Amino acid sequence: ATKFVIEGLKAEIEGKEILKGINLEMNGGEIHAIMGPNGTGKSTLASALMGHPKYEVTAGSATLNGEDVLEMGVDERALAGLFLAMQYPSEIAGVTNSDFLRSAINARRGEGNEISLIKFIRQMESSMKGLEMNPEFAHRYLNEGFSGGEKKRNEILQMSMLDPKIAILDEIDSGLDIDALRIVANSVNEMKNEDRGFLIITHYQRLLNYITPDFVHVMMQGRIVKSGGPELAARLEQDGYDWIKEELGITD
Ligand code: ADP
Ligand code: MG
Ligand code: MG
Repeated sequence: ATKFVIEGLKAEIEGKEILKGINLEMNGGEIHAIMGPNGTGKSTLASALMGHPKYEVTAGSATLNGEDVLEMGVDERALAGLFLAMQYPSEIAGVTNSDFLRSAINARRGEGNEISLIKFIRQMESSMKGLEMNPEFAHRYLNEGFSGGEKKRNEILQMSMLDPKIAILDEIDSGLDIDALRIVANSVNEMKNEDRGFLIITHYQRLLNYITPDFVHVMMQGRIVKSGGPELAARLEQDGYDWIKEELGITD
């Protein structure tokens, strides 16, 4: 079983503290949603977990099955099973989508355990079919000339093939039309299993009409200030965030 525990995580950008002590515990089989107003540190959390060089972690830990990922290099985090949709380069000249995916999968599987070409192609074709992607995308150069929606689907393709333990999706719904949203959501729902947890970061409740979270956390000013079940997302959709601010005496 997968367990991911974030404790007292603080992070800063250019000397400015953005994350002020994040605590979150996730198990495989659970979908957690993080919601919150713009500029509150949601993407900073995702980036800090993935080891983006711009974000400096100043305190806390994030352990995946007992190992602190914050002490790992970026590649090691991916090997350990952490996936962030935005972590992969947006374009690499001369590298096709399928070449890129195959080397990412092999890096994740480790030396001596590489996937066979036949198996890889079969898996890719079936994943692409599930995402209703045009087969020609396998042979296009990575993200080159992909539309916003195509990039998002491609991120989900990467996720489904990399078989992560913890998948972090930051604003995966932005720029998706309703059909693409449904397809992306179906993939997440199908990938949910007891060894895999999802952290879904979203500004809008819309996505949560298709992916029902087990837990909803509200983030404000660099902290998780409230947690609940799916009903919390529904309340936020209806009433916005002001009532939470009032409840907590937050002024801004
Ligand atoms: P959210 O994802 O919740 O909208 P972010 O994590 O993107 O919030 O941003 C949190 C805060 O950090 C904001 O005040 C934002 O301006 C600041 N910030 C984010 N990224 C950078 C950056 N690369 N350089 C400077 N400030 C940043
Ligand atoms: Mg933002
Ligand atoms: Mg953001």
